[in-house]
Amino acid sequence: MSKDIRDGGCLCGAVRFTLDLADHHTGNCHCRDCQKNSGAPFMTFTDILAEQLTWTKELPKCLQTSKLAERMFCGKCGTPLVWQGLDERERISISTSTLDDPSGIDVTYELYTQSRWPMLQPIQGTTQYLKGSSDASTE
Ligand SMILES: [Zn+2]
Ligand SMILES: [Zn+2]
Repeated sequence: MSKDIRDGGCLCGAVRFTLDLADHHTGNCHCRDCQKNSGAPFMTFTDILAEQLTWTKELPKCLQTSKLAERMFCGKCGTPLVWQGLDERERISISTSTLDDPSGIDVTYELYTQSRWPMLQPIQGTTQYLKGSSDASTE
């Protein structure tokens, strides 16, 4: 697969990264943790192999925020940057909107639709999961 190298970073610019989008999956997460973490109705994450991402300036801070996962964020401005499952270290989910150029990235699934804001509609053509993608509970 041909490389698709993109740069990105936090709001204040202290934390920067470069990654390869050649093999990625992007989805919206409507879980309560993502709502709390972002202050928004949902977060959009792009899932890649961890080895495809390199931090190029300051390293993000890291905090375990649930039994399942830790999150990384800029220690200066607080921008949420990464969700990482504790039992799946080889993969990493980057906050898609922190890419400098997120063009061409399509959302293909939505997670934790059980806590989606009632006024928001499912995105047409995407796989809908009531909980996480590892649960078989598609709508
Ligand atoms: Zn920052
Ligand atoms: Zn979530």
